[in-house]
Amino acid sequence: MIPFNKPFLTGKELDYISEAVASGKISGDGDFSKKCQAFFEKRFNLQKTLLTTSCTDALEMAAILCDIQLGDEVIAPSYTFVSTVNAFVLRGAKIVFADSNDNNPNIDPDQIEELITPQTKAIVPVHYAGVACDMGRIMSIADHSNVRVVEDAAQAIDSYCDGKELGSFGSLSTFSFHETKNVIAGEGGLLAINDTSLIRRAEIIREKGTNRSEFFRGEIDKYGWVDIGSSFLPSEIVSAFLYAQLEQLDQIQSQRCRLWNAYYEGLLHLAKSGHLILPCLPSYATNNAHMFYVLCENSGVRDSLIQFLKKKGIMAVFHYQSLHQSEYYRSRHDGRPLRNADRYTGTLLRLPMYYELSIEQVEQVCSAIDSFFCG
Ligand SMILES: *Cc1c(COP(=O)(O)O)cnc(C)c1O
Repeated sequence: MIPFNKPFLTGKELDYISEAVASGKISGDGDFSKKCQAFFEKRFNLQKTLLTTSCTDALEMAAILCDIQLGDEVIAPSYTFVSTVNAFVLRGAKIVFADSNDNNPNIDPDQIEELITPQTKAIVPVHYAGVACDMGRIMSIADHSNVRVVEDAAQAIDSYCDGKELGSFGSLSTFSFHETKNVIAGEGGLLAINDTSLIRRAEIIREKGTNRSEFFRGEIDKYGWVDIGSSFLPSEIVSAFLYAQLEQLDQIQSQRCRLWNAYYEGLLHLAKSGHLILPCLPSYATNNAHMFYVLCENSGVRDSLIQFLKKKGIMAVFHYQSLHQSEYYRSRHDGRPLRNADRYTGTLLRLPMYYELSIEQVEQVCSAIDSFFCG
């Protein structure tokens, strides 16, 4: 059996967790949390980072920091995970869904431009599969309209747009360490705050609306309730696990890229013969090998391919369902058809991708796909 995902352990996780436990400090913002944050800030050129218990939480913090009020509009892709937009809906925002590009599932900048109104408060690009959105265009649209950009970089660790780190463009950006991502902590996330004027409020929101972080740094002599907030910080046990992973980032990334390239080469002939479409990387984007997907001709072919592979013990899976068509948002959506989002909903298929997958297994998956199309 080849599963779709298998969480990778570097081997140091339990050692670091033991260290954290032995230190007697296992609540949040201890040494391991600080080390993880410092790693992200330095390596990815982020002004300030705060670990959170999930990327969902980081997005919820971002929505509060954008000061979203009832009726404000937020532009986001429809082809994304629920949390990307749910975080803003919780603050009363109206989500204005934009379609994906023709050649990849990222948000289409032309659509963003058309959808901006005086009510628009934020644009939330999602770097699908870790492949950069067109950040040059998106940042220039946002700057012209005085709108904030929040990057959902959940899948985009160690990936770049025109040589600049994803997560370093928006005033805020969010990462995920869910067990399905490249670097994991079970559940975990991180908020990057590149607009330094938001740092103080971010710390307060993360500490239940109190100025406790300033108190612990000795900047004030008592702390209290100064804003809204919640408990968004992870325990040191989670941070210790994460630090063990971050230390091995380069090794994780290079192994995943090897596998990704093996898939690409192994399926190229099927793309050339028109049986499927391979991922398209724009010239400004890098590949962090978060995911390997193919596009089938239609949903019938995609679904039979899933069944065919399953019979051979290979777990391949579809991905998002367009959010503008979801049970919750359908009646709230303004009715514009979003054809590319629906096309990816129906035709995109993700293949097994995890650190311990072998090149031989990748070849096995490719040959199974070949036999599906060519008999
Ligand atoms: C994984 C993911 C999330 C949610 O991350 P959690 O850490 O599970 O909350 C949000 N957005 C995208 C695009 C994701 O891939």
